[in-house]
Amino acid sequence: MNPKIELFNDTGSSEEERTLLVAIKDLSRFKPNLQLDHYEGNFISALKNKMGNPNNIDLDRFINLAYTKEQFSYATQKIVLLNEPLYQNDRLMDGLTRQRTPQFNCHSYQQTIILSNARNLSQDEFYAVCSHELGHAYGATNRRHDITSDDKRHCTINKCVMRYPAFNNLTSLRRKQGLSVYCPKCEDGIKNF
Ligand SMILES: [Zn+2]
Ligand SMILES: [Zn+2]
Repeated sequence: MNPKIELFNDTGSSEEERTLLVAIKDLSRFKPNLQLDHYEGNFISALKNKMGNPNNIDLDRFINLAYTKEQFSYATQKIVLLNEPLYQNDRLMDGLTRQRTPQFNCHSYQQTIILSNARNLSQDEFYAVCSHELGHAYGATNRRHDITSDDKRHCTINKCVMRYPAFNNLTSLRRKQGLSVYCPKCEDGIKNF
């Protein structure tokens, strides 16, 4: 697959971006040659203004709108960093990975990750959110028959960042010890993606 990632940072700050970059770097241990392209947030700001209530982002509407824009080509993975609270069906989310249409079967070329630290998570927690969403985008739990979580998309191993919610004391500890936050099976999913 094309390892190129387009990053749209609309936060005006760099702390979350730095954390995201560390998560991407750590992911590249299993998925080498990831390339990052930067885009300024202007395009994203314009999209938010079109949404009526830019301080409360409806994720599905936002992504659908983004894909109507030329800048959101289907050819690459995209990550959007925002400050605003993200909602899906009235549920506050720290991040979401979505394919262009829900029925389109998993192919990374068409996936978008949206992340926000509106809840002011610690950077350690935000790192887990980033790693979790990157894991979704890069196949950590794809095509797995051993997944027993209710939605079949999350890992069930406690220490693994692909569990939901993404962060807990175990993932935090593993990170401090320099260990991978993905369990071996999720790592394999990423390697084979
Ligand atoms: Zn998830
Ligand atoms: Zn796992």
